[in-house]
Amino acid sequence: MSPSGAEVIRQIKQQVQEVDPAEVSEHLGNGVTLIDVRESEEWDRGHIPGAVHVPRGYLESRVETAVSDRDAPVVLYCASGQRSALAAHTLSELLGYADVRSMTGGITLWKDRGYKVEVPKVLTTEQKERYGRHLLLPEIGAEGQAKLLGAKVLLLGAGGLGSPTALYLAAAGVGTLGIVDDDDVDLSNLQRQVIHTTRTVGTPKVDSAEAAIAALNPDVEVVKYPVRLDASNIMEIVQGYDVIVDGVDNFPTRYLLNDATVRLDIPVVSASILGFDGQLSIFKPHDGPCYRCLYPVPPPAELAPSCGANGVLGVLPGTMGLLQATEVVKLVTGIGEPLVGRLLLYEALSASFTELKVRRDPNCPICSRDPAEITDEEMGVFPDYEAFCAAAG
Ligand SMILES: [Zn+2]
Repeated sequence: MSPSGAEVIRQIKQQVQEVDPAEVSEHLGNGVTLIDVRESEEWDRGHIPGAVHVPRGYLESRVETAVSDRDAPVVLYCASGQRSALAAHTLSELLGYADVRSMTGGITLWKDRGYKVEVPKVLTTEQKERYGRHLLLPEIGAEGQAKLLGAKVLLLGAGGLGSPTALYLAAAGVGTLGIVDDDDVDLSNLQRQVIHTTRTVGTPKVDSAEAAIAALNPDVEVVKYPVRLDASNIMEIVQGYDVIVDGVDNFPTRYLLNDATVRLDIPVVSASILGFDGQLSIFKPHDGPCYRCLYPVPPPAELAPSCGANGVLGVLPGTMGLLQATEVVKLVTGIGEPLVGRLLLYEALSASFTELKVRRDPNCPICSRDPAEITDEEMGVFPDYEAFCAAAG
């Protein structure tokens, strides 16, 4: 006579190595892959932070994506420790994983012991449809989309670069978009600032941008700052954002922004444009160079767009702004190789991209120091800008 189901489970549980929640908690993130084998609804109600979700029904087909190295340590858990024991048995007996353990008591005991549980944002039916093409990408999926919806991104400027960036980040479902701009929409902006329309000429850019974003995606909350960024307000505005998108057109603000974001440890996706050429980089404090590492002194004044009106090809800020938006999505979701320590140059007329390595300056006046040491007085200190522009003729 075949053994009963209960008997089989009892036997398997005897063979499988078990591990106490205390030990799992201690080794979280230390090279041990923690796999939650419960169903999606259970995962959505809360799971252990840092765990990977591979429902038991998909174990054989998906586990290799979660852990490709069969000698790497793996801990499985479920609600009570039963399903994870069966799954551990499958991994070690059928799939050849060498170091598999099942967590005793499952997430129920984990919670009883007072360890942390993370409740993921659950997408509504409408969101599942809206972001369906993201959900189909395993690199983004529901988890990446939830990160986008929870992200706070600050756009400096709703102009040439900020317009396409804002539209695409809104479309991608970035939950909070802050916009700093104290200008009104001018007819001459519309050749490239695609978030504004003929009807919004004469109205504040932050209002015009907010209306366009609201029409595109009601999931996005817009926070408006109709001010000029300066030393008196920068810390207050920038604080609390996950990523800054820098589309400002003047060097004093760039220096000020750099110093504030190094101090607050916020990455800046920075682009600039002139004529037919654009450049792009990410300044991620302490991971890569900062803006001052790249430009210890201001670039030559003739390259300073804000010194006067310069021509720009209307589509160029679109190209550069969308490269910025792409980098923001990568930073928020943690996928790909962000453009940290690299400067990307784009020449529209020759249709060519060039990449330059940018290194951290060990003597950088800002990022070589302990961020806490950077004082308010030092931030954005920069040669007199009027004089600087005058020198450009
Ligand atoms: Zn630096």
